[in-house]
Amino acid sequence: MDVNNAPLLEVTDIRKVFVDNEFQTHVLKGVTFSLGRGEMVAMLGPSGSGKSTLLSILGTLMKPTSGSFRMLGRELTGMGERDLSQFRNQEIGFIFQYHHLLPDFTALENVLFPHAGRVGRETKEGRERAAMLLERVGLRDRMNYRATRLSGGQKQRVAIARALMNKPALVLADEPTGNLDRENADAAFALMTEIQRETGTTFLLSTHDRELAERCERRIYIRNGVVADEANELLQPAAKPAQQPWRVIGGAGAMIDRTGSPQADDDRRRA
Ligand code: ADP
Repeated sequence: MDVNNAPLLEVTDIRKVFVDNEFQTHVLKGVTFSLGRGEMVAMLGPSGSGKSTLLSILGTLMKPTSGSFRMLGRELTGMGERDLSQFRNQEIGFIFQYHHLLPDFTALENVLFPHAGRVGRETKEGRERAAMLLERVGLRDRMNYRATRLSGGQKQRVAIARALMNKPALVLADEPTGNLDRENADAAFALMTEIQRETGTTFLLSTHDRELAERCERRIYIRNGVVADEANELLQPAAKPAQQPWRVIGGAGAMIDRTGSPQADDDRRRA
């Protein structure tokens, strides 16, 4: 198959059952869709419908119970952990609702982490790219500020720059504007849209904000564990944001490691 003509991501019949003692929660019940290259797609659905779970699975941070997905022509469901973490680092960028910057490091160092792993290991080109990205997100004068000294909107702009550091093919964003006020949410969204157009990076972002979702090229609705029909969804009342301020991508908790990269369940178990 000509990989360049194939969709960027093909998701087929993804299912996820969480098993907790004797309880089983069937969260995803056969999700199928595809994403084209360079698309900006919003994912909507009621709180608890499985959006974070799906993003974690597509980000290879969590394994599905069954089903498969291909990205850039590669089947990711059966890939070994070492290859998977390399693939994730190179091809997938993550933006979280609560930015997950490392507080003791500067904006520049935070953006460099996905590239260098730790401070001091970066290349000159890496530093230049990180600086260019920070300039692009409007933070040229804040590069050397520690993350703790940045405002919420500025932190999220650093997180956007960090997600783009390794020139990923796909950025997965879990409620990226959910923790921002209207003005900052609009600004962060506009920035992601501009970057998507400039770079051809595909964005899949979950949101409760129908106004922002309307500005995306396409919307995918998750309801009752499957992809729902858009026409029916428009008749539903707007979903409310989740009341779980501690929640991170991965539901029960994908973690950010010392390198600023998200860790898969299996990576954590090994650590
Ligand atoms: P959304 O992002 O749409 O709000 P989530 O993907 O966070 O939904 O959660 C979907 C459902 O899966 C919820 O009922 C949640 O409680 C459950 N869930 C998420 N992670 C786990 C887990 N690790 N163990 C058990 N249940 C989980």
